[in-house]
Amino acid sequence: METILYIATVEKDGSLAKGALEALYAALELKSTLSGAKFVAGLIGTDVQAAANSIAGCGAEKMLGVSGSDYSQARYSSDAAAVTAFAQAAQATVVIAPGTSRLNRVLPGASHRLGGVADLHITSLSADGSDLTVVHWHYRQRMKAEYQRKNRPWLLAIDPGIYPVWSGAAGTASVEMVDVALPAVRTQVTGFHTPSADEQTIRPEADLLFVAGAGWTKKQADGQTHTADAERYILGFLKATQASLGSSKSLVDLGGEGQDVLGFLTHLNQIGQTGATPRHPKGLSTCCHGEEPHVVGWRFVNERRAINLNANCGWAHGKADVLYVADAFEVMKKVIELL
Ligand SMILES: Cc1cc2nc3c(=O)[nH]c(=O)nc-3n(C[C@H](O)[C@H](O)[C@H](O)COP(=O)(O)OP(=O)(O)OC[C@H]3O[C@@H](n4cnc5c(N)ncnc54)[C@H](O)[C@@H]3O)c2cc1C
Repeated sequence: METILYIATVEKDGSLAKGALEALYAALELKSTLSGAKFVAGLIGTDVQAAANSIAGCGAEKMLGVSGSDYSQARYSSDAAAVTAFAQAAQATVVIAPGTSRLNRVLPGASHRLGGVADLHITSLSADGSDLTVVHWHYRQRMKAEYQRKNRPWLLAIDPGIYPVWSGAAGTASVEMVDVALPAVRTQVTGFHTPSADEQTIRPEADLLFVAGAGWTKKQADGQTHTADAERYILGFLKATQASLGSSKSLVDLGGEGQDVLGFLTHLNQIGQTGATPRHPKGLSTCCHGEEPHVVGWRFVNERRAINLNANCGWAHGKADVLYVADAFEVMKKVIELL
């Protein structure tokens, strides 16, 4: 019989982030299908009471907590110690956590201390009787593996953006504080450097992924490049829709080669085999050929459309639901007017 321990870290404002509530949904769905499973929750943060109250209706047999200034920030030593202490206190056999950078970093180390195993980037949990099966994608999302393990405890981090957000009743939770053998704490987070909202073009939660390809910087029908227009259309569309901006490799590479390119694009925008594999309900590709190393990064984009002058581009070969064979400059100008 498995004991499922759900672990999350609490945000600065005392709440649980979307990814944490998605992992809670995943853990509870598993509990309901895994025969005879027990369910315990554990929260890490400066003060965990408000977060515990917000998930009081989750049906946990026990709500564990560690709190204090040592847990206000991501730090390997304190977070790994807290996860280890929770797993021991709950006698957990399965640990489920949101796949945040903070928890992904400590689960493998904690599993080693516990004599167990850890798997990150899990995209699905399912149970048949008492057998737990997990899913993990490999080789840039080209292959999907479904597997089980005998080792316990099994620590699992759930990738964000897959499960629905848990939305049960709040209440008053009774939190059992756990003693943590905290080692010497040396690392301090002294601040964050973040780009201003205008420069922030990568929006993982956006409904739409807008991809710009190298065609935006190529010579057009009049024999000229129109990079300033391209910038205006792309930024205008992003401003009006709050879409997330992706790019092909060719377009971001051009900058490194000293060509006249779109100033707001970096390698972080690159989608594909050697770039990112974001999750958005819809995607619109513009001036991008749709070659396989690029399109493999669209694996989790459900509805795909593309605008390309070439009716025989990669998108036409079964990679997009809809291909508009058209000039993206003209189409985007009109779309922005309509928006
Ligand atoms: C090992 C390896 C890894 C790779 N990893 C990645 C990766 O992670 N991501 C990635 O993107 N690529 C990757 N690539 C490169 C990839 O194969 C392509 O070279 C790249 O995606 C091409 O970028 P593009 O489509 O923007 O440019 P191009 O191939 O130059 O295509 C430009 C397109 O714009 C169109 N166009 C031009 N003007 C207009 C207009 N006015 N209106 C509409 N359409 C227009 C043209 O018809 C053309 O189809 C990788 C390659 C290798 C070998």
